[in-house]
Amino acid sequence: MDKKKADNRLVKILAYVLAFLMIVIVGGYFLLPLGGLGALAWIIISVYALFRLVRWHASALLYCCTECGNIYEVSGFVDVFIPYLNERNQGKGNAAKITWCPYCKKNTKADVTTK
Ligand SMILES: [Zn+2]
Repeated sequence: MDKKKADNRLVKILAYVLAFLMIVIVGGYFLLPLGGLGALAWIIISVYALFRLVRWHASALLYCCTECGNIYEVSGFVDVFIPYLNERNQGKGNAAKITWCPYCKKNTKADVTTK
């Protein structure tokens, strides 16, 4: 990932996170004073917005298996809860993650790239 692309990506992530926070804050401001049903609606909207945010982030990334070279996507769960490896691969400055490769059928290290 080159610098400009990485910067654009960071702006995009910030925009999405801000939009998410706006939905939660504005939703809370109008829905919470309504009481029980309003609070329930607010929780559902917030969880849905968070789910959409995670799905978007997961779908914006591709994982390239270092064993077989195949490229695949991962679930939102893996995207959020599996930490990145704190190392640089092949001098390209790519992040990497241990993921389950659907082609090798095992956990392997994968380089993370954007679409
Ligand atoms: Zn593989």
